[in-house]
Amino acid sequence: MKCCFWVVASVCFGLLAPLGAQVVDDDRPDASVVSDTDPASLPRTWRLDFYQTGDAGSEVLSLDRVVVEPLAWPSPLGGEALPTDRGVYRFQVLGSDGRLIHSRGFSSIFAEWQSTVEASTVRRSFHESLRFPEPSEIVEIVVERRDADNVFQEIWRVRVDPADPFTVRIPPPRQEVIAFEENGAPGDKVDLLLLGDGYREADCASAFAAHGQQMVDALFAQEPFAARRQDFNVWGICPPAAESGISRPSLGRQLASPLRSTYDVFGSARYLLTLDNRTLRAVAAWAPYEFVVILSNGDTYGGGGLFNRHAAVSMASGFRDYVFVHELGHHFAGLADEYYTSPVAYQPPDRVTEPWEPNVTALLDTGNPKWGDLLSPDVALPTPWPKGTFERYASQFQSRREEIRAGGLPESEMDAHFRSQQGIEKALLGVSENAGKVGAFQGANYDAEAFYRSEIDCVMFTRNEVPFCRVCQRALEAVINRYAPP
Ligand SMILES: [Zn+2]
Repeated sequence: MKCCFWVVASVCFGLLAPLGAQVVDDDRPDASVVSDTDPASLPRTWRLDFYQTGDAGSEVLSLDRVVVEPLAWPSPLGGEALPTDRGVYRFQVLGSDGRLIHSRGFSSIFAEWQSTVEASTVRRSFHESLRFPEPSEIVEIVVERRDADNVFQEIWRVRVDPADPFTVRIPPPRQEVIAFEENGAPGDKVDLLLLGDGYREADCASAFAAHGQQMVDALFAQEPFAARRQDFNVWGICPPAAESGISRPSLGRQLASPLRSTYDVFGSARYLLTLDNRTLRAVAAWAPYEFVVILSNGDTYGGGGLFNRHAAVSMASGFRDYVFVHELGHHFAGLADEYYTSPVAYQPPDRVTEPWEPNVTALLDTGNPKWGDLLSPDVALPTPWPKGTFERYASQFQSRREEIRAGGLPESEMDAHFRSQQGIEKALLGVSENAGKVGAFQGANYDAEAFYRSEIDCVMFTRNEVPFCRVCQRALEAVINRYAPP
């Protein structure tokens, strides 16, 4: 890991040199000066901030502002226009002649919240952002959402004029950027940003740096990331906190951590995210990134991840490296949870449709599962596995987990409990007759019956130190290929 003040060239010319065209001096009055100065420079990163407002049955999108971020567009140009088939939502940037300039799928906090009990009783707003390359003409941003049949339908359209004098060009407060892993110009690489939250200034240089490096090591120990390590840059920003830690409202603790990451999202004790998207984007804007994970200096196990929005992971748990990789699976590739025995904050769907997530299926057509080309020869569909025994153990594990929480026992007790669970589950799943095969195993996506996963075990199913299943690996690799074409 090395340190770099991105915007002070004399401090770290080594990093700035290959990225010279990417860094824009925010003292310049406007973007046109940049183009005049360096005609070969990449477009700046633009951002449309908006609100999603509504309740369980309604949704209104409204414009907040259009922002010019301080750095250049970090992704390949052209290839980004490829339509995406993942996410609850999709946004597209259309030129004046209707041609597709940019497209990206995403999921949102609002959409998740809509399936909570609270959403049936109150209307709320959540802030979101869409980032796209600086437009050279008037463009239209079109947001689509999947309907009940998972088909994208337009829900909002807004016009963005690059000459609009009200576009916000004031840069946010500068941040120091460190390079955990640097393999080339951001435009050619997958750029992953790790943000520290709840670390005091002295802890940023020590604990955050160590935690970040541990997460990098954990990530590149897993396929397909290991084989594609050279296609990644990993950056870090750690805005110093006045006091150590993050908020945990259920225990009466609220802290002004710089990114406002918090436990208890949607009333779920271990669900960890930030709802302060404006602050998140202002800090993140100083590093090139397509993906952003908050490393929270928390006091207990926790995490969360939304496709193409952000992920957050508590660094308090002995299982933090596992949680990091798992949550990145959600954030990076839109992978679904393959587990189904833990309580979650959501209500089950009224009717079962084929999920859009690549790694779970409703198996509505048993002769043609969505990963049919990866099936093991002669595998039975659905694929037998010791489901009843697994569920009996899971029930016991869950009871013990609740006892540990209710008793306020130290995090080491939870780590020990997870290790005990891991040993029993590995013994059960690892020797099953269909272990290692690709089939359709019933139980996934928070539902014991309606959905199926492709292998008996996976990073998205248990904490058993197993690889991503092959279906997940393929889904992750497709995203890597999008931002770092092979
Ligand atoms: Zn999987």
